[in-house]
Amino acid sequence: MTVMGRKRVTLSRFIIGGYLAVLSVPTGAQAAPDLTAANARLTALLDKNYPALEALYKDLHQHPELGMQEVRTAGILAQHLRKAGFTVTEKVGGTGVVGILKNGEGPTILVRADMDALPMEEKTGLAWSSKARATYEGKDVPVMHACGHDTHVAYLVGVAQALSAMRDSWSGTVVLIGQPAEEPLVGARAMLDDGLFTRFPKPDFGFAAHVSNLPAGVVAIKAGAGSSASDSYSITFHGRGGHGSMPAATIDPIPIAARFVTDTQVVISREKDPAAFGVLTIGAINAGSAPNIIPDSAEVKVNLRSQSPEVRKLLQDGTARVAKSAAAMGKAPEPTIRYLSGTGVLTNDEVMANAAVAALTPVFGKGLVFAPASAAPMSGSEDYSEFVDAGVPSLFFGIGGYDPAVLADLKAKGEPAPTNHSPFFAPKAEPAIRNAVTAIVLSIVGGVRPAAK
Ligand SMILES: [Zn+2]
Ligand SMILES: [Zn+2]
Repeated sequence: MTVMGRKRVTLSRFIIGGYLAVLSVPTGAQAAPDLTAANARLTALLDKNYPALEALYKDLHQHPELGMQEVRTAGILAQHLRKAGFTVTEKVGGTGVVGILKNGEGPTILVRADMDALPMEEKTGLAWSSKARATYEGKDVPVMHACGHDTHVAYLVGVAQALSAMRDSWSGTVVLIGQPAEEPLVGARAMLDDGLFTRFPKPDFGFAAHVSNLPAGVVAIKAGAGSSASDSYSITFHGRGGHGSMPAATIDPIPIAARFVTDTQVVISREKDPAAFGVLTIGAINAGSAPNIIPDSAEVKVNLRSQSPEVRKLLQDGTARVAKSAAAMGKAPEPTIRYLSGTGVLTNDEVMANAAVAALTPVFGKGLVFAPASAAPMSGSEDYSEFVDAGVPSLFFGIGGYDPAVLADLKAKGEPAPTNHSPFFAPKAEPAIRNAVTAIVLSIVGGVRPAAK
């Protein structure tokens, strides 16, 4: 029996559920920079540059690549960054790209876009739909940009072009990165382990953005915790295989795995504070082949989501304890517990969040949606948190990508809007790319930064 796992939820409906529920147009914005002139200049630049950015997005959408296989994407990104005047290094942490632009005195600023796609078949019906295939965990699979990372690479190029053209409006050093493998939550770590903050200038602070199915025009800012921690494990229960008619001569790993699957939920229902967020999902069970064979082993894949270090530890320890106990009850040896991947909570710097709200509200008007630190973060995860945890306070924007008319039409039909990772996910590229470029570039020009240390 195989149940495919790795269900990743990103922004989208969690922002709708969370962010819009606490929507407030912030008041009392003080000392916000006047970005009217910079915005007019940027808008004119984007009017000129956007057609090429859209062509880039469509090309990447038709040629999606899985995490750590982003060779073509990285090459194209590197070319564009060089053309915009950046000094580019490729193959950082596998397929990662680093582009640096030095522009006088000032802070070092990180801007990140993730580049990878997902192992799934596209069903959007877009004229530029993907027919690509690739090898994923040894299997031939279709590949689709179902999380919008194609628009992210395009916005990074847009940011590079704009910062280069508007050098007289900001000063400092910009480090742009094309990050591999966000979906399996390993790419940020790989870039850090390959010396991202030692071989290159270490950023003082950073920005990133993610497109979702929020209405186009929305730019969401969440202060404090913005996403959940995620931890994925493979747990292999070891038995002793044999004939299905002679169970007494075997150690059957299947009932052990089955017991684990149900018992481990007790960690959530009985051990965790009911008011604290925590999710435990079994995304895959792999064991056996024929009805009359008791297999040697059974593998279970577990994903944990939490929003505090205490709950994260409770779920990690509880899962391991229940797994060992289930094996002991089945007279089996200790299971093999292997950590697959994970990342911590992505925390947005509150000073940066407030400063960005003040600076960008006049630019985006009602589209600027703010959620305070007290609002719940989304249940999805983001490995951008690795950069924050490595000492780069940051602001991660949520960017609406769905045409409001399309959303209204779906609502009238009683159908939900496709979320990130849906085979139907098809955000509108232009507002997504332009608004991400605008939010990031104007934050940099407007001096959005954390409190001085
Ligand atoms: Zn995703
Ligand atoms: Zn994503």
